[in-house]
Amino acid sequence: MCGEAAVIAENLARIWERVERAAGRAGRSAEEITIVAVSKTHAAEAIRAAYEAGVRHFGENRVQEWESKRALLHGLDATWHLIGHLQSNKAARAAGLFHTIDSVDSIGLAERLEKAAAEAAHRGARRLRVLMEVKLDPEPAKTGAEERELPRLARAILQMPHLELRGLMGIPPLFDDAERARPYFRHLRELHDALREQLGAEAFSVLSMGMSHDFEVAIEEGATEIRVGTALFGERPRPPGT
Ligand SMILES: *Cc1c(COP(=O)(O)O)cnc(C)c1O
Repeated sequence: MCGEAAVIAENLARIWERVERAAGRAGRSAEEITIVAVSKTHAAEAIRAAYEAGVRHFGENRVQEWESKRALLHGLDATWHLIGHLQSNKAARAAGLFHTIDSVDSIGLAERLEKAAAEAAHRGARRLRVLMEVKLDPEPAKTGAEERELPRLARAILQMPHLELRGLMGIPPLFDDAERARPYFRHLRELHDALREQLGAEAFSVLSMGMSHDFEVAIEEGATEIRVGTALFGERPRPPGT
């Protein structure tokens, strides 16, 4: 194992320990939690190392970046998530490159994905999984659907035969103290519970919330998927000029 692979394996073991402790505090089992390894900006070799350490879910935030790395990663049997904002004009490409789109925030985008997924179904592809991204941060530049739009968006997606609506994703504002994110996580969990009951949708069971600095709080509040980049792969290189 090369040095980087050993570090990633060790980081993963530490993340699982943290997951177990947080789940334990909430009377939950760590087996209920899926770690989505956020590999944006990291090279294909790092992804392979995480896979070899046991990770089976990966998240990327840009269609093009994943398209170029994917060519180097044939044969890995993992679930690939798009977790970043998706523009409608890239929906068709994204539908062919990812198993799940975790950032659906409009009916227009869902319609584009449905169309692409319908075409892929002719070639034997299974339904495209989607999460609705909820806007938790009041700041205007932040992405996600407004809360009041969720029931309408959910009903529209449930009418689309080639999409499978699995749940919600959300990102609270960034705080130094992760405790301050707790009310946002709790709120998202309550929205998820209410929608699941309203929709009566069996598959609506995924709650994707929590990142490297706050996933313990998210797990205590009910996360079923956490999206972890830095704690697994190390700091991301910063683009020049930032
Ligand atoms: C980058 C990113 C993450 C991972 O962030 P870390 O703080 O590095 O764990 C999670 N979710 C989304 C949507 C991201 O863009």
